[in-house]
Amino acid sequence: MPLSLNEFISTIESRRNELDSQTALPPIPAIAHAEASLPRSLPEIGMGLDSIKKHILDDLLPGFNKPNLSGNYYGFIIGGTTEAALFADYLVSGFDQNVQTYMPQETVAGAIEDAALRLLQQLLSIEESEFLGKIITTGATSSNILGLALGREFAIAEAGRRKVPPSSPSVAQLGVFKACAEAGVRKVQILTTLPHSSLYKAASVVGLGRNSFVTLPLSDEEPWRFDLDALERHLKLPGLAHIISISAGEVNTGRFAASQEEVVRIRALADKYGAWIHVDGAFGLQARVLNPDPAHKSIVDGIQAIHLADSLTGDAHKLLNVPYDCGFFFTKHLALQQAVFQNNASVIPDTSVIPSAHNLGIENSRRLRALPLYSSLLAYGRVWHRELLERQIELARSIAAYIQGSESFELLPRNTDLRDVYMIVLFRARSTALNKELVSKINASRVMYVSGTQWEGAPAVRIAVSTWRVDVQRDSARVIAELERVLQDLED
Ligand SMILES: *Cc1c(COP(=O)(O)O)cnc(C)c1O
Repeated sequence: MPLSLNEFISTIESRRNELDSQTALPPIPAIAHAEASLPRSLPEIGMGLDSIKKHILDDLLPGFNKPNLSGNYYGFIIGGTTEAALFADYLVSGFDQNVQTYMPQETVAGAIEDAALRLLQQLLSIEESEFLGKIITTGATSSNILGLALGREFAIAEAGRRKVPPSSPSVAQLGVFKACAEAGVRKVQILTTLPHSSLYKAASVVGLGRNSFVTLPLSDEEPWRFDLDALERHLKLPGLAHIISISAGEVNTGRFAASQEEVVRIRALADKYGAWIHVDGAFGLQARVLNPDPAHKSIVDGIQAIHLADSLTGDAHKLLNVPYDCGFFFTKHLALQQAVFQNNASVIPDTSVIPSAHNLGIENSRRLRALPLYSSLLAYGRVWHRELLERQIELARSIAAYIQGSESFELLPRNTDLRDVYMIVLFRARSTALNKELVSKINASRVMYVSGTQWEGAPAVRIAVSTWRVDVQRDSARVIAELERVLQDLED
């Protein structure tokens, strides 16, 4: 019997409904059972469709965690999946479109990705006519790889153009070694504050190396913020090329590296010294949907001017609540992007109305991961996205307010003003002994899930509010009840 899409989707839907949405994590025995059911060897004769369906639905599915079903999964900024995105995602697999080259005579797929990116630019107020280089990626890590690859291409060539006699060596053509030698560059530095771990990986991949990072924090108290004087001192150093990487926002605190006025100054410095500006706004870019009302003033201030950058990283599978994996990348330097990521060297330049994606990013063959994004953006619109983020911030702040008022917990970073809290709450237990086990004690009831992290050399807990299922009253009460339970268990 062929698989009926109808039956297939209704089976998945009924399983999703059966799974208990009151907990964020499945019972441990369910995970153990699922893992034990994984066969060690490939069958010579396949088990058949009916058996594999039964195995996956009955054995494996109960072992999945539930970021998509629970409103209280606060790990990793995982987002959730909106219903419109889920619907579209089923179709992506059902029709298996390849968005590699723009083929207007053969499929509308390429035009859909272009439309999704334009809608996204409108949502985030990213000028379409300025940011002509745009692509859907597999996530912020690959967007960061694109950003550093372009930054490297630009900054080294720019150093070459500024020397006597000038030259414009291309890393994409010559490799880092030879291009640096021609440009008179000894080293490329990436100047930043508290970069996300994926940026180190990106630097490794694009041949700059993890040691090329130089962090320039304003102070121990505000390590996520740029010290602009230190920035200029580094930019002035002779024989170096520079990428400035702005964390907007920083993954542990949700804070923004520079104010609007500071981003303007960073732009002027970059122009003066020939540096490239990359913004890692995996979840921070979403803040561009907010209105500059008093409650959101400092957040808006931190994200308002980032369109002055050369390249922008964003994640759709985080706050835009589409399924994994879906990130995006915007740059003002389309020609440079095509020079670095050119796939088919015989057709330079790519002059199609919509530039082909295989000349813009890492992959050749690509899934139509734009469709869930397209679907969700159109189904819900601008106002819904703004109100959702407002609710997420409100929940984060109400949890932060409870922690601030608690004698047992400490809100981080110290001296946090609630008006600066975005959708992340960072905190620890005041008792060192409890703090060591705090994450596992919170997650033990499996009702809600938090991530552990490090802050100032000690363990800390991070609550990242990111799902569309957020309900401020219900979830705030649930989180507070769980934290109180941890304290109560200690006393018992
Ligand atoms: C999540 C995140 C990344 C990595 O994104 P993936 O989508 O997991 O590849 C990069 N930067 C920041 C700030 C993030 O929050």
